[in-house]
Amino acid sequence: MLGLMMDMPLTLTMIMRHGERNHGMQEIVSVTADNPRHRYRFADAFRRARKLANALDRLGAKPSARIGTLAWNDYRHLELYYAISCSGRVCHTINPRLFDEQIEYIVNHAEDEWIFTDVAFVPKLEQLAARCPGVRGYIVMTDAAHMPQTTLPNALCYETLIEGEADRYDWPELDEKTASGLCYTSGTTGNPKGVLYNHRAAVLMAYAASLPDTCGLSATDGILPIVPMFHVNAWGLPFAAVLVGAKLVFPGPTLSNPQILADLITMEGVTISAGVPTVCLPLLAYARESARSLAPLSRFVIGGSACPLSMMEEFRDRHGVRVLHAWGMTEMSPLGTVNADTRASSAWAGDERIAQMLSQGRAIPGVELKITDEDNRELPWDGVAVGALKVRGLWICRDYYRLEGQGGAHEPDGWFVTGDVCSIDPHGFMRITDRAKDVIKSGGEWISSIDLENTAVGHPAVAEAAVIGVAHPKWQERPLLVVVLKPGMQATREELLEWLDGRVAKWWIPDDVMFVADLPHTATGKLSKLELRKRLGDYRLPGASGAD
Ligand code: ADP
Repeated sequence: MLGLMMDMPLTLTMIMRHGERNHGMQEIVSVTADNPRHRYRFADAFRRARKLANALDRLGAKPSARIGTLAWNDYRHLELYYAISCSGRVCHTINPRLFDEQIEYIVNHAEDEWIFTDVAFVPKLEQLAARCPGVRGYIVMTDAAHMPQTTLPNALCYETLIEGEADRYDWPELDEKTASGLCYTSGTTGNPKGVLYNHRAAVLMAYAASLPDTCGLSATDGILPIVPMFHVNAWGLPFAAVLVGAKLVFPGPTLSNPQILADLITMEGVTISAGVPTVCLPLLAYARESARSLAPLSRFVIGGSACPLSMMEEFRDRHGVRVLHAWGMTEMSPLGTVNADTRASSAWAGDERIAQMLSQGRAIPGVELKITDEDNRELPWDGVAVGALKVRGLWICRDYYRLEGQGGAHEPDGWFVTGDVCSIDPHGFMRITDRAKDVIKSGGEWISSIDLENTAVGHPAVAEAAVIGVAHPKWQERPLLVVVLKPGMQATREELLEWLDGRVAKWWIPDDVMFVADLPHTATGKLSKLELRKRLGDYRLPGASGAD
């Protein structure tokens, strides 16, 4: 027997309508290339989204057309999110930090019809346009006064495009499974793979992200998404913020400028922010060196790579900010776990507390986790057994775009193989030890490169650390610690090894330490161990020529 409840589809249009009707006066503040502080309200944003939807119709963009965006986080990008998806088209966010060949590949693979771009990326697209013949034209996200001279074919100015359009639009009644967005994984090996989101998953992710033990969002919050809108929809925050009616503060192109971020936090009343650990380092350093407070910030969602303990402690002790350590993937919209307390864990202290802080947290309701051994047998949640992490859930992709069945990441029963290796404790706290491909296997046992990196970064002179496995005749592999020192700071190999001694298991202590000026990163700001291994191709461990 079926229940007798209304059959309302879960669509972003529903979130947009709710935000406009109930929170129309809520503010959105943006830094853009042409305005250091643009401000308007939800009501203005959605009125302009309707004008934009009319403009897309006038451009002849097909239903379900993929519309590309190459843009930083700002109000025009937000308008695009809603106008494109709610008119039944697919918002394809493109990471401008990708190599030109990758951008060319994904624009052609997605068959983007039109591309909206910030002024800053016009030169990049001019280089690529001839190799993307399917793109019908480019819309530069600025006003007539700032419109650059360009060789881009069919170049239009955003403000001129929407200026004369009506601000009424009949949003179509969409099936909740209609595709809403497209985001390619950075593809450290092989070509990038497209994750095609739908309205239903985006809405469920927005609800789940707002839960008290996820990000705990409310209409009293000011949200500063530093994580780019081209990276998994800024972790869903532009949808969750509108759902709950929170103020949105967008850093535009200044996301790596800690002074501007601190100004935005203090002057715009930001209570929660989100980003990868690499954006937090300069923010914390700037606040420390200039003795600035980050009030009223109270929470910082950090994910994308493991958050070092020293970072969580500095946020907590200096700024009273709770780090919400989160884990997820592009394929998971992206949130899978968040580290929030349970009744039991809030009483933990000492080592138990530290272990919990270092964990990536517990599954968000809507996501199921399991860990398995090499024979695909499920492992216990005892905090000790380490295995391959697999997931399924309400906002997780079931396949890759136009790779149907060839993605290689799903098991026959539908579970998604994350490529991460972790343990889970009896309270459900999950702790990633490594990417499967970065695992260091020494004498048949696994050494966690993530734990070693986190501990090394805790040394006062270390700015960044990477640990990779290097071939060893006796142990198969041994860890090598590669370190970038903070400007003006000194540390020797022996000092760093001594620092690790007692903080990690004896047999985990790296066989060597290498000092470098910088470490390679991927387009999403993570350490690129693939590139690092290439750079260190000729490296041999001391004493590795014979068994020792
Ligand atoms: P890409 O694969 O394009 O680099 P994703 O953002 O999808 O981008 O990367 C997902 C991966 O990032 C995860 O599988 C995991 O290895 C890593 N990751 C994400 N969050 C964390 C975290 N909190 N701690 C450790 N690793 C993380």
